[in-house]
Amino acid sequence: RAKNNKKAFQIYDPIFDQNAIERLFLTNNLRTAIEQNQLTLFFQPKLSLKTMEISHVEALVRWQHPEKGLIPPDSFISIAEKTGQMDALTRWVTNAAINQYLAWQSNGIHINIAINISAENILDKSYPDYVISLKQQHQLTDCAITLEVTEDAVVDDPEKATEVLNYLNQSGFKLSIDDYGTGYSSLAQLKQLPVQELKIDRSFVQHLLDNENDQIIVKSTIELAHNMGLSVVAEGIEDEATLLFLQSQGCELAQGYFISKPLPAHEFEAWLSQSNYK
Ligand code: C2E
Ligand code: CA
Ligand code: CA
Ligand code: CA
Repeated sequence: RAKNNKKAFQIYDPIFDQNAIERLFLTNNLRTAIEQNQLTLFFQPKLSLKTMEISHVEALVRWQHPEKGLIPPDSFISIAEKTGQMDALTRWVTNAAINQYLAWQSNGIHINIAINISAENILDKSYPDYVISLKQQHQLTDCAITLEVTEDAVVDDPEKATEVLNYLNQSGFKLSIDDYGTGYSSLAQLKQLPVQELKIDRSFVQHLLDNENDQIIVKSTIELAHNMGLSVVAEGIEDEATLLFLQSQGCELAQGYFISKPLPAHEFEAWLSQSNYK
């Protein structure tokens, strides 16, 4: 795998050293962060391009570090993955996301919630059993929770992943393939999986209107996804023209800074109450 080859080419560079210290620092402190509730969730809406309603929201984790401030997930998710901390991290995120979902429900905000999960979370049934128990405990309806899984998580061990995803799907979770197009899977492989949604990676969306290749990829992905009975989400929409193009292609859901950036829960509520979307 190309990802792993990187290690073979490491040359001494003081910059790498600095990164190594930084990583060690983050690794040691991440455990504390999870235990001491230094993590926080931001929420980014998904807009239905059929009804122009905000029907879903994605939970995105941040680390509110006491000295370093708000640390973005790209700086610590890979560390958590490499240091066996994804079980603890995803459980924290899942619990927090479900609590927010319940709080919104009781305030009359009916919105489904999406949670990002990692490869480690579908290697066995430990995390699935946790999220299933929360669903039962809170009597959540089917499809209240979407679980977003990247292609890579599935490619690593397709057989096991298929088994665990089937288990989650049969337990009433909606499954979504995240970052579609950046991994190694093909739609033929995805056909084997019990997924209901495909998220086109933002790298294909960002320059969509200027790039004919991206248009061809996006159009054919939407068409094939629909033929397979999947709904399509486009992420990384930064302008109205791109949104309209995707709408004209039959894409069901849209996400991106043009609609809203990820926001803390109370800012998201304020945004929702004054937005033109319902
Ligand atoms: P993702 O799941 O693909 O999430 C989308 C990322 O794109 C988010 O970055 C979001 O802020 C950003 N984004 C959304 N709209 C736009 C746009 O219009 N333009 C641009 N340039 N960017 C946009 P964020 O929140 O920094 O998250 C980065 C990645 O970290 C996520 O990518 C996801 O892979 C991972 N991540 C975040 N939260 C969690 C989590 O709770 N668990 C796991 N396992 N991974 C997470
Ligand atoms: Ca995602
Ligand atoms: Ca994505
Ligand atoms: Ca991504």
